[in-house]
Amino acid sequence: MKVPLLDLGAQNRELEAEIRQAIDRVLESHAYVQGPEVAALESEVAALCGVPSAVAMSSGTDAILASLMALGIGPGDEVIVPTFTFFATAGCVARVGAKPVFVDILPDTFNIDPAAVEAAITPRTRAIIPVHLYGQCADMDRLGEIARRLGLIIIEDAAQAIMARFRGASAGSFGRSCALSFYPTKNLSAMGDAGMILTVDEALAEKLKFIRDHGQNPRYYYHFIGGNFRMDGFQGAVLRVKLKRLAAWTAARRVRAARYDRELQGTAVRLPLVDPRCEHVYHQYTLRCERRDALQKHLADAGVGAAIFYPLPLHLQPCFATLGYQEGACPVAERVAKEVLSLPIVPEMTEAQQSHVIETIRKF
Ligand SMILES: *Cc1c(COP(=O)(O)O)cnc(C)c1O
Repeated sequence: MKVPLLDLGAQNRELEAEIRQAIDRVLESHAYVQGPEVAALESEVAALCGVPSAVAMSSGTDAILASLMALGIGPGDEVIVPTFTFFATAGCVARVGAKPVFVDILPDTFNIDPAAVEAAITPRTRAIIPVHLYGQCADMDRLGEIARRLGLIIIEDAAQAIMARFRGASAGSFGRSCALSFYPTKNLSAMGDAGMILTVDEALAEKLKFIRDHGQNPRYYYHFIGGNFRMDGFQGAVLRVKLKRLAAWTAARRVRAARYDRELQGTAVRLPLVDPRCEHVYHQYTLRCERRDALQKHLADAGVGAAIFYPLPLHLQPCFATLGYQEGACPVAERVAKEVLSLPIVPEMTEAQQSHVIETIRKF
């Protein structure tokens, strides 16, 4: 039996008629860039997440980049990021000329370690980018307290965590700005690249709307140096169709996670921990296993797609070598990177498929 990590075909088949109608609306309106579908999507995502403003972006990466630009972070500034995340979290910091300062993670939730954040603060620190990795919020109590005490900006990276909650409040409620991604593998996925910024700061939202369009207002008069960070009309229309299903899809991911939690007890793997303050949205269901590579091969031989997010922490990546980090600088992340494995968790996975994944792991 084949159990793919991701099955966009199954998702699209179910929605095909509605998606075609949505695409037709854009074809007829010629609103290919931004336009009414994107504006409607902004309101709908803001309402779903309970955050006052949402600004559509060309990608999750651009959402992080534009946030840094709008907040005036640049040369001479340090920004604290977890070393165990997707590249864009730190890449954007370097792209605005600031210095990414990599810190370690917690071994059970895989999220940024607040004690390590505290230890990394210098007089140059301007911001912290907590990543809500795999769909679970970082410890926003402690990070919020540190940021308030020291006057630091928080930019949330919720690319994997739309609808995730911490103490009942949605991702996006905690920082000055929060990046979402709608890349095709994410919980809410476009048919191409797209992203969004959530913010509780309405003045910042207005500034971001200029920044995403080169900083112009009115046309051909430039107040800030921005870029082309606009969302395609087609993506807005497709995302609106899928957004209506997101709550049900998220619930389906949770059901699958609960079954793994129950039925993988007593096997060779260490199960992911849910912080009791969090509502996890399971972008990934990620376990740890000392013989991870052998387990991945064992699963692949049985037709099960399982993947490694991420094999090498960012502080050890060649592109950041000039920052001078050595092996041993972030020992938890270095170890976790050798042990993590993400199992299929998509809403399209059937009960029989999940049984096959569980049986295969039980035989390992
Ligand atoms: C996917 C992702 C991004 C980047 O989003 P794109 O839409 O692919 O540009 C940033 N951070 C994290 C944690 C991600 O998973």
